[in-house]
Amino acid sequence: MMQAAFSHVRPKACCFRAALDRSATFCDECGQPILRCMASEECGGLLDEDGRCPVCVAPELSIDAGAVSSVKVGGALSIPLLITNTSAVGRPLFIKEMWVKAPDKALTPVDLAFQRLASGAVAEVSVSTGALPTAGVHRIEVIFIAATRYLWREECYAFSASFAVDVEAESAGSIVQNINVSADQIGAGMTIYNPTRMQREKADAPARRAEPIVLTLQRADSFERQEGYRGYESGIAVPRSVALAWAGFDHGQVPPDGPIRTQTGVLSFGRASNAAHSGMNDVRLVISGPDGTDEDASVHISRRHFLLYVENDRLMLRVESQNGLSVNGDPLRRGETAILKDGDVIAPLVRRPDAISLQVSFDVPADEVGQVVLRRRIGTGRR
Ligand SMILES: [Zn+2]
Ligand SMILES: [Zn+2]
Repeated sequence: MMQAAFSHVRPKACCFRAALDRSATFCDECGQPILRCMASEECGGLLDEDGRCPVCVAPELSIDAGAVSSVKVGGALSIPLLITNTSAVGRPLFIKEMWVKAPDKALTPVDLAFQRLASGAVAEVSVSTGALPTAGVHRIEVIFIAATRYLWREECYAFSASFAVDVEAESAGSIVQNINVSADQIGAGMTIYNPTRMQREKADAPARRAEPIVLTLQRADSFERQEGYRGYESGIAVPRSVALAWAGFDHGQVPPDGPIRTQTGVLSFGRASNAAHSGMNDVRLVISGPDGTDEDASVHISRRHFLLYVENDRLMLRVESQNGLSVNGDPLRRGETAILKDGDVIAPLVRRPDAISLQVSFDVPADEVGQVVLRRRIGTGRR
């Protein structure tokens, strides 16, 4: 049977219902795979079609009604921003980096005095536009990287928001201007920030602090790839829903072809059993052939040797064995991780790399990997 492509799975109401059964791996109603957040033990979330858990990664950016003055031509504006972690389930969010971009200027890093934001917490960030040389409405863009962590894993996402600031001509003095800008001129959904007016509202009603203006956030997926936060340098991506296909294994050693279906999204490989429910692994890794298992040679493979999972749109490996392993001949120790690429060869036995190895092949129909083939090779050195 052809393996259906599950790129960009959007969970439906039926899928959330099916996911209440913690062991469910497919929705019994629509047949889509259930792609749980890596932290689903804590959040119960399913990944959206862009690979983000909306329960864990729920930042909100707003402009605070802080004490700022209007800006004249040539002046710089300091904009007080508030960043909030609106996650309702107590999952912390990590704001790793932030940039501001004014028209015709490069991205400028913003100093962050914090990184970890507990759920419900609000942090203040002051963003400077740099000198604004001409009068009129200027579009200011803010981009930031938000990360969610679970055990040793981390998923990063870029978000962007933009708003307009009005730069007064030199002659305007302190007169509060009315801004008449249509959505066509600055883009739909854009917030116009008029510090003079906000200042005035604040002064008129000192008892009532003006409300922060919540900005519309967008996933900046091309920024994520260009800047190396997600996907591969070559521009391709391995979505969480990628289909795995197994080759060169014996019957019963591997799970069925298709997306990773474990609850945590991690597949474990090792010598110990992979029996359903009771087994320690998802993939049984032994040196075996038509004559059965070579127990003496297989004993050097650890009971649990390594893990495979998708993180930041990349296929990842993490070493679990005390003995380490090698990828393309490069040794890796326990706890180390590697990004796997097309053509990589994983050798569980560092000193006998030819005894057993796994070759990774990517099938890339467009800019996204549709299928990853993992081929077990036994005794390649002797053939
Ligand atoms: Zn469904
Ligand atoms: Zn989550």
